Amino acid sequence: MISFNKPFLTGKETHYIYDAVYGGKLSGNGVYTKKCQDFFEQRYGFGKALMTTSCTDALEMAAILSGVGPGDEVIVPSYTFVSSALAFVRQGCRIVFADSCNDNPNIDADKIERLVTERTRVIVPVHYAGVACDMDKIMDIALRHNLIVVEDAAQAVDSYYKGRPLGSIGHMGCFSFHETKNIIAGEGGMLTINDSRFIRRSEIIWEKGTNRSEFFRGEVNKYGWVDTGSSFLPSELVTAFLWAQLENIDVIQQRRKEIWHEYLSGLLHLAEKGCFTLPDIPAYATNNAHMFYIVCRSIEERTALIKHLKDNGVLSVFHYLSLHRSAFYTSHPEHRPESLGMVDADGDEVTVVGLDLPNCDHFADCLLRLPMFYELANDEVGFVIDKINEFYSR
Ligand SMILES: *Cc1c(COP(=O)(O)O)cnc(C)c1O
Repeated sequence: MISFNKPFLTGKETHYIYDAVYGGKLSGNGVYTKKCQDFFEQRYGFGKALMTTSCTDALEMAAILSGVGPGDEVIVPSYTFVSSALAFVRQGCRIVFADSCNDNPNIDADKIERLVTERTRVIVPVHYAGVACDMDKIMDIALRHNLIVVEDAAQAVDSYYKGRPLGSIGHMGCFSFHETKNIIAGEGGMLTINDSRFIRRSEIIWEKGTNRSEFFRGEVNKYGWVDTGSSFLPSELVTAFLWAQLENIDVIQQRRKEIWHEYLSGLLHLAEKGCFTLPDIPAYATNNAHMFYIVCRSIEERTALIKHLKDNGVLSVFHYLSLHRSAFYTSHPEHRPESLGMVDADGDEVTVVGLDLPNCDHFADCLLRLPMFYELANDEVGFVIDKINEFYSR
């Protein structure tokens, strides 16, 4: 059986956890948290990096820092994970879903501006599969309409847009170290802050609304409750684990890219015959080999291919369902823009009137992810390719 994902251990994780445990500091913001934060700030030039318990938490921090509230509108691609929208829903916002590009699941930057109203406050570009959105266009729209950009870079560690690290371009960026990502900590995340206006408040929100970080740096002589916040910081056990991964980031990335290119060269001829399309990497973007996917011609063909692979011991999986069709969104008009207030409930499928996102629906129906993890051997990649060939020559 070839699984879809397998968490990779460098071998040093338990060593550093042992060190953290016997170092006597188990709670957050200790030695390993600082090591991880320094690593990211130095290697990628993030203005400030704060480790969090998940990317979802980093997004919640970004939503709080954005200062948004009930009635404010946030533009989010519909083809993404729930958290990209949920963090803003928790602040009472209305979510304005945007469509994907034609040949790439990322938000179509050319279709964003028509969604901007006087209530729009934030744009959340999601770098799907670690491939950059068209950030120059998005930052230009944000600048002209005075909007905040929160990059959902959950999948985008060590990936670039025109040479600039993802997560360093928007006002804030959010990363994930969930065990399904390239660099893992079980559950873990990071908020990056590139606009210095948000830095002081970010540390307070991170530490339960207290100015504890300033106290420990000796900047204030007592600390207390000064703002809203939560316990967004991970324990040292999590960051100790993560540190073992970060020490090996180049090794991990290189092997993942090799696997990615094995798939590419093995599947190119089928794509050229029109059986499916391969990932589109625009010239401005790099590929961090977070995932290898193909886009099938129809949902029926995808279902049949999943079954064929499964019958041969290979686990492949589809990805997001369109969020604009989700049970939550279709039943919560208070979280939709007012112009989309009406619900049309004919038949089984509830659709939001006026919301037509065909590219998103296409990827929801047709995108298929193939096994991708560090320890996947070349002969296993070859086996997956053979089985896909077999399927299309039937
Ligand atoms: C994985 C992922 C998240 C959530 O990350 P967690 O660390 O599990 O909270 C959010 N957005 C995207 C695009 C993701 O891929």
